[in-house]
Amino acid sequence: MTIQMVDVVGQYRKIKAEVDAAVHAVLDSGMFILGKDVGEFESAAAKYLGVGHAIGCASGTDALQIAMMAFGIGPGDEVITTPFTFVATVETIGILGAKPVYVDIDPATFNIDPSRIEAAITARTKAIIPVHLYGQAADMDPILAVGKKHRIPVIEDAAQAMGASYKGRKLGGFGAAGCISFFPSKSLGCFGDGGMIVTNDSALADRMRMIAAHGSRVRYYHEVLGVNSRLDTLQAAILRVKLGHLDEYNAARRAAAGRYNAMLAGTPVTVPAIASYGDHIFHQYTLRAPKRDALDAYLKEKGIPHAIYYPVPLHVQKAFAMSGGKNGDFPVTEKAASEVISLPIHTELTEEQQSVVAGAIREFYARA
Ligand SMILES: *Cc1c(COP(=O)(O)O)cnc(C)c1O
Repeated sequence: MTIQMVDVVGQYRKIKAEVDAAVHAVLDSGMFILGKDVGEFESAAAKYLGVGHAIGCASGTDALQIAMMAFGIGPGDEVITTPFTFVATVETIGILGAKPVYVDIDPATFNIDPSRIEAAITARTKAIIPVHLYGQAADMDPILAVGKKHRIPVIEDAAQAMGASYKGRKLGGFGAAGCISFFPSKSLGCFGDGGMIVTNDSALADRMRMIAAHGSRVRYYHEVLGVNSRLDTLQAAILRVKLGHLDEYNAARRAAAGRYNAMLAGTPVTVPAIASYGDHIFHQYTLRAPKRDALDAYLKEKGIPHAIYYPVPLHVQKAFAMSGGKNGDFPVTEKAASEVISLPIHTELTEEQQSVVAGAIREFYARA
């Protein structure tokens, strides 16, 4: 039996006719840049998320960079975020010449701990970027409250959380801007790179759209420094089809997570916590596991796919030495980095495959 971390082909096969028709329509139209497919997908995504504006761009990484550029973030500025995230959150801060300032995480959800944010704010703080890690919301109300109190915009990194909600509302539209990724393994994945920025602020939407288009509203008239970041027309056509299946996809992931929870009951692992304020779409199903490195080696030897997101916190990464972090600075994050392990989870995962994965974990702890 082959088990995969994600199964993008299996998922595609089930909607092949719909996707192929959308792709061929774009190929036949000869319109490969922007055009009606991008506009239609943006409108559909905005409606789905309950936000006023959605702007397609080339990746989730670009979405973060464009959102920060729209707030004029640059050298000398500080941006508060979590050290326990995918590199893009922090890389884009660094690319703009600003400094990432980290706040430790909540041990249950792995998301930024709102109670520690205020202490990290300085006169240079220009944004707060909570990340909805693994597909679960950060606790937005206290984060928004501290942002409001200090007049600092909150930018959601919702790259892993398309379709997840907080207190009944979809993520992305809580902060000043929300950044989404359509990387193939994400909950709404395209067949290449893609991303989107969402907001309820019309002036900000206009500015972000302009930045994504070489800083111009009218072609060849450049008002601000911009970038070239578009959502491909082909990807938009594919995403439009897949958006119609997103709730069903997220439900399938949630069901798979529930099955793992049951299969792993009684083992020493800690299964993912679901905070009372939201739901979890399980972009990743991440355990805390005693003897993690030995379990990692054991699963490798047995050919069971798994991954560690993320083994090295960002405050101790060589590339971000400008933040001056060292081991010991963020103990909750460091402990998580040494304990987490993610199991295969996707829309095509079967109960049988899951019992093989869970069986190997049981076996490991029975022997250990
Ligand atoms: C995937 C991801 C990104 C970047 O998205 P890309 O589309 O791969 O550029 C940013 N932040 C987080 C938390 C992510 O998981």
